[in-house]
Amino acid sequence: MAADPECLFCKIVSGEIPATRVVEDDRTVTFMDINPATRGHVLVVPREHSQDLLAIDPEDLAAVARAGQRIAAVMPERLGADGVNLLNSCGRAAWQTVFHFHLHVIPRYGADPLRLPWTPEPGDRDAIAAAARDLEG
Ligand code: AMP
Ligand code: ZN
Repeated sequence: MAADPECLFCKIVSGEIPATRVVEDDRTVTFMDINPATRGHVLVVPREHSQDLLAIDPEDLAAVARAGQRIAAVMPERLGADGVNLLNSCGRAAWQTVFHFHLHVIPRYGADPLRLPWTPEPGDRDAIAAAARDLEG
């Protein structure tokens, strides 16, 4: 399976770098964002490295979309989310900072104060782990 040895998310997929993983399937891994925009913010990535939306294999894109839909579907019940934003940034001008394709799945809560793009700040590790446990059901 193609991996880029310099790529942060390839290292998360392989387990070389730890992440709070939530669900996986044969093509995708879903893990908690360390700078969450809201409680329960996850990233869905293809196992196979591709830089961005323009480079990703359409089958991987479909698999990421399916995984994103599945995790979004449990956010209302498990997290109390009232809505969900899906976000993908393609290219630096579009705010992409990690060049391994990823879909942000961001639960939204009533009148939460999030405005996009958010200012990334490290989340509390225990709070992120607790949100991951809630997502896992
Ligand atoms: P983007 O700016 O759309 O490329 O999103 C990259 C995302 O990856 C940001 O929301 C970061 O908070 C997140 N991120 C960076 N490093 C890690 C990491 N080690 N584990 C989890 N999420 C990360
Ligand atoms: Zn990669």
